[in-house]
Parts: sequence; C-alpha cells; structure tokens
Amino acid sequence: MAIASVLGFPRIGSRRELKKAVEVFWKGEVTEDQLQRTAQDLRHANWRLQREHGIEHIPANDFSLYDQVLDTTAMLGAIPERFSWRGNTVDLDTYFAMARGNSGAAGEADIAPLEMTKWFDTNYHYLVPEFTSAQNFRLASQKPIEEFEEAKQAGVLTRPVLIGPLTYLLLGKCLGEPFDRLSLLDRVLPVYEQVLQAFSAAGAQWIQIDEPALVLDLEEEVRSAFQPAYERLSASAPELSILVATYFGELAENLETACRLPIAGLHVDLVHGAGQLEAVLSTLPGAMHLSLGLVDGRNIWRTDLDKALSLARQAELRIGPDRMLIAPSCSLLHCPLDLDLEETLDGELRSWLAFATQKLDEIALLTRALNEGEATVAQELAANREAMASRGKSRRVHQPEVRSRTAAVTLEMLRRPLSYAERARLQREKLKLPLLPTTTIGSFPQTREVRRARADFKAGRIDTAEYEQFIQRQIEETVRFQEEIGLDVLVHGEAERNDMVEYFGEQLEGFAFTRHGWVQSYGSRCVKPPIIYGDVSRPRPMTVQWLKYAQALSPKPVKGMLTGPVTILQWSFVRNDQPYETTCRQIALAIRDEVADLEAAGISMIQIDEAALREGLPLRKRDWAAYLEWAVESFRLASSGVRNDTQIHTHMCYSEFHDIFQAITEMDADVISIESSRSRMELLQSFEDFDYPNEIGPGIYDIHSPRVPSREEMASLLRLASHAVKPERLWANPDCGLKTRGWPEVRESLANMVHAAQEVRAEF
Ligand code: GLN
Ligand code: ZN
Repeated sequence: MAIASVLGFPRIGSRRELKKAVEVFWKGEVTEDQLQRTAQDLRHANWRLQREHGIEHIPANDFSLYDQVLDTTAMLGAIPERFSWRGNTVDLDTYFAMARGNSGAAGEADIAPLEMTKWFDTNYHYLVPEFTSAQNFRLASQKPIEEFEEAKQAGVLTRPVLIGPLTYLLLGKCLGEPFDRLSLLDRVLPVYEQVLQAFSAAGAQWIQIDEPALVLDLEEEVRSAFQPAYERLSASAPELSILVATYFGELAENLETACRLPIAGLHVDLVHGAGQLEAVLSTLPGAMHLSLGLVDGRNIWRTDLDKALSLARQAELRIGPDRMLIAPSCSLLHCPLDLDLEETLDGELRSWLAFATQKLDEIALLTRALNEGEATVAQELAANREAMASRGKSRRVHQPEVRSRTAAVTLEMLRRPLSYAERARLQREKLKLPLLPTTTIGSFPQTREVRRARADFKAGRIDTAEYEQFIQRQIEETVRFQEEIGLDVLVHGEAERNDMVEYFGEQLEGFAFTRHGWVQSYGSRCVKPPIIYGDVSRPRPMTVQWLKYAQALSPKPVKGMLTGPVTILQWSFVRNDQPYETTCRQIALAIRDEVADLEAAGISMIQIDEAALREGLPLRKRDWAAYLEWAVESFRLASSGVRNDTQIHTHMCYSEFHDIFQAITEMDADVISIESSRSRMELLQSFEDFDYPNEIGPGIYDIHSPRVPSREEMASLLRLASHAVKPERLWANPDCGLKTRGWPEVRESLANMVHAAQEVRAEF
C-alpha cells in the first residue's frame, strides 16, 4: 500500500501565533515557559491536523522557534566562539543571540548574529553556520528527540526530520583560512549517529534526512562523500529506515549517488524536477522505497490530480504500490497554512488554489486513489477536473489582448535607439547635473503616521481626498527637505507604498491578494506574497499622479520610481500554467506603459528597481544563461520605450556582481545604484575587475543601521570609487531605500553625503 506523507509543515500558526509569541518573549513580556507552551500547542495542532487529514508519515522536528538550520547548529553544538557558550545544551538566550545578535543591553558587548541567506532558491532565509578548521561538534540539543517523544505521547508516531550532514556542512561558511568544509564530516557524523540511535531507542521507524544539496552542481569529491557518510549512519541504527529527501530540482548527475546509498527510501521532487521520474525508476534499487513529490510544496495552486495520478501509476507499474510514498514536492513550510481562512477571495479563484492544509487532502486523496481505486474518490477527482478546466478557460486568466501584445514584441522594443555614450551626451545637455550627482534610492522614512494614514484609508476611516492630501503633504515635505540639503536628483519618497511589489500588484490586472496567506521569510518575519493568477495588464497609471505632483514642486529633476518585472515575479506566487518568462514579459509590458506615461508627464529620469534579479538565479549553473536572458530581456522591454534623453536608472541591493556582470551590463540602464558601503574591498574589486560601461552609484551610506556616517567617511568612499570609475560616470547615493530609517538620522546622514560629494567634486 502507498503511504501518505508530509516532509514538513508551516509552523507559524494560522494567526501567526509563533511570530507574536517569539516577539513578546524578546521584549521580555512573557517567560520562556509561556513561549514554549505556545510552541507546543502549535506542534500539537499540526500533528493533529495532519492525522485528521489522513497523513500517515507525519514529520516531527520540522518545528522551529526560528530556523531549522539554526536548530541543527544547536544540535551539533557548533556555536561560534563569540557567543561564549559553555554548558551542556544550548540555552534559549544563546540560540536567539545567534539569530539576532546581542546589542543594546547595558554592559553587554555587541555581538554580531550569524549571517542570513536564502534557503536554496526559495524566499526562506536560514542562518549560515560558521566553521573553523578546528571545529568540534557534540550533541548539544535534545530538541529532535524531545519533539519525537512529545508527539509519541500525543499518540502520533512521527517520522522525524533532520537536515543531512552534507547539506548542513555545504550550507556553512569557513572562518579564517579557507579549508574544505567536508573535512569536518568525520567530526559531525558521530553526533548524527548518536541522534539516530536515540530515535531508534525511542521507537522511531522511519527518519527523514534532508539532503537538498543533491540537486546542486556538486564536485566529484563532494558527491563521493555521501556514500561513506550514509554507510556509517545506516550502520549506526540498523533498525531505523532512513528516507533521504531531495527537493527543489532534479537529481540529474547525482541520481546514481542517491540511489546507491544504503537507505530505505529516497524522496524526489516531481514538480520542480518533473522530467526525472523515468530515470529515477530505472535507477532505483530493488528494495528502496520511492517518495513521489507530486504536490507542489512551494506554490499555492491546486494539484492537477489526473496528472499526478498518472505519474504515480507510472511508478506503481515499475515498483509496485508497497514501496511508494505520496508526498509534497518539499516541505509545506513555503505555503500559507489554510485557504479556508480566505473569506474575501472569490469562489472561482479559490477553486484553483490549495494551501498547506488543502494539500494534505490532495496527498491523502492521491494515496486513496492508488490504494483503494479511483472509483472511491471519483467525486473528488471530478471536482478537481472541473476546477482545472475552469482555470484553463477562464477569461480572467486568459486575456487575448495581453496575449497578442506579448506576441507582438519586436527586437526594436528591447533596445534604446542610441548607444549609452550618445544617450549620455543628450542627457547631460538636458539634465545639466554636476559631477558626482547626489540622489537617493527612492523611499524616505515610513513613519508611524504614514503607515497609519495608509491603514486608515484602506479601512475606510478616511476618504480618498483626505488620503491624497496627506500623501501630497508627505511628498512636499520630502521634496522641500531634499532641496534644502542640496540633493541634485530628488525622489517623491514612496509614502503611498506599503511594499514595493504589493503596491504595483494591487493595481495590476491578474494579481490577487490574500488576508492571511503568510509565509515565513526568516525567524519571526513573515511575508504575504501576491498571487499572479492571470494575464497581467495595467488598467491605468499607477504612480504618475504622485510623480507629477512631486515634479511640479521643484525645478530639479524628480526621479520616477518603479519596481522591475523580475522582482515583481520573484516575490509573488507565480502561475504555473505558463513559463515564468511569459508572465515576466507581461509584467514588463505593464511597467513599460507606466514608464511611457511618466515620461509623457514630464519625468526625465525613471528608476526601475530589480532588487531580486540575482536571487532568481537557478540552482544549476547550466540553467543560468537561459534565466538571465529572459530576465534581462524583461528589464529591457520595460525600460527601452523612452526617448534617448530620458535617463533610466536601476537599483540592486547587493554587491556580488562577479558572476552576473555581463547580464547587468546588458540591461543597459543609464545609471545603476548598488549596495557597497559595507565592504570597501568588494566595491573596489568589482569595479576594477569589470569595466562597467555606464554610470554607477556605489552606495556610500549604509542604511541598514541607524548609524550616521560622517562626511569624511563618505568622501573617502567616493574617492576610492573614483579610482575605479571615471568621475563623469560616478554618482553619490545611499545603499538602498530609507524607509526603515528614522528622520533624525536620515537628515543628518544625507546632509553629510551631499557635503561629501561637494568636497570630492571640488577635487576634480
Ligand atoms: N525604491 C525602493 C526603496 O527605496 C528600493 C528598495 C529595494 O531595492 N529593496 O525603498
Ligand atoms: Zn536596495
């Protein structure tokens, strides 16, 4: 019989209980016991829910107070020196100090938290383990076992989850002299052995060990480290059935490695590795179970059950039902919890969606169809077919006008008529900017007052006229301030925007928004991504009214501010019934229309932010070129419809350009602003290594902290930059938008920045 199973479940709770509990604990308003009780309630609710929905292999230890990679660091006792941790088990203070750093409290030293980075290609962020070459590991947290026991006491025999030793080591970074992280494997395995033995003694039958690293490009030495490692693990607890879980892509050339492991089962992603089933079936050894990841764990669409069933049947034919597990593609952590909470979404749209709870039903249903025959679930299958058909032909999804427009995109539409050098000359004549022009990245502080006004407007507590007046006042104050301190290129300040994607999504056709569709981004931070369900178009201008107002206030140029198509795509749940690039091109055309309207309204500079361009890079290098091609093309489509003397800016929140420099250049923005104040060295490096042909504004004011940088400091950064970039092509600006900052520090910092630019300008 096939087994219904789950790899991991959202832990934040239907009302974000975990977020709230953790945050009040941080403020010292509740005790550790109270926090742990909330956590326990959430775990119990999850186990109960999964059991009620017919899941047999239910995970334990998929819960975390902050992050599952941090939990693994705690389990292994790999606590960096600076946290001065001694003792047997990692206490909660040390745990949260690693997550958030330690600062502020009187007498306490400033301790930097672990770095945070994206978990593979998802929007979840994990805390990066740190290793020294002398790193030691020892079992320092009983959490995995305790949670297994806790479930057992509640009557649920779970399948506990661990992050595998190889994936864990590969996700970490080396401190000091670089060394091979896998040299630590022999030191880390004894702890894993201990944990497996403890699970075995506690009565566990299956254990899930996540090794998503197996879907990455691996060097031969790394690949060959899996076999001996898993030989040790399986020998240490012979009664335990180990399921190795891979997800987020195909195993490809790592397939044989995975299939050779001495394990009881292998999980493969058949949503993001759809093409691999046949190869997996022909490589899987005779006794190994196969867990089929048929339900998308990362997106919110209802599963096409007929399609999923036909894949399952294909597997059944080859390996029989007794070695099959039916599963989501990956942990359901990346999905919102429950569609039933969404009372405001219309029925038609809802019928196309499935959140984590609904996905449990899909998994159970597929399993029943296999075990008891499709006739027993005929009604459900029919309903599913109907939903698929309605989505397939709905006018809300398929808009012929949008289709014909995207089909009619020509090469000319992707190119500015003149080269950068010629455009620059025309722009210089028109804009008459000084050398080292000063500007900002777009947003100004989002004060409580600003947020309240937006909330009041949304809730109907103030009317449109009142709201518009409020925003106009904000714009006016922001513009006046910028003039006062002498910035050369002004912005309107983005007071009307809650979020750089949501603001545009709300005004575009083809987007929907949930009320409770929260997904954990990192720690207690959750996001509510928009859902792109249909063809995208722009019914009316989205930003023109505010920009026009701002520009009328000042003779200085005011820079229009838009979010780029790739970033809008990356930070949304994207439809799965057409290639991402098609959806991206539709968004690009909508932004292109906005760009044209801004230009027509007299805006002479337009910035199109592509904060997420880099994070969209596929996991496998071989897929990079194809991605970068359509990503760059989308940006060009959005930005190239303007006159030569209209200046296009873009902004990116990072400084690692080495591997994508060519693509950045091909975007052909007149000016790019980037993050760089935090790493002087990197800044010089990228400039010297690559000769960026257009204008560039390396951030000289680090906006990630309230610290006010001095004039001297920023002037010296500018001088440094001017060694690598010709002064005619250099801009002075902060690292990123100022919306998270407070006015007092912004006032001072920007004034210093303007003075720094004036000082350095005088030296040329
Ligand atoms: N224009 C945006 C802002 O200033 C850019 C933010 C970003 O790139 N993350 O807020
Ligand atoms: Zn930024």
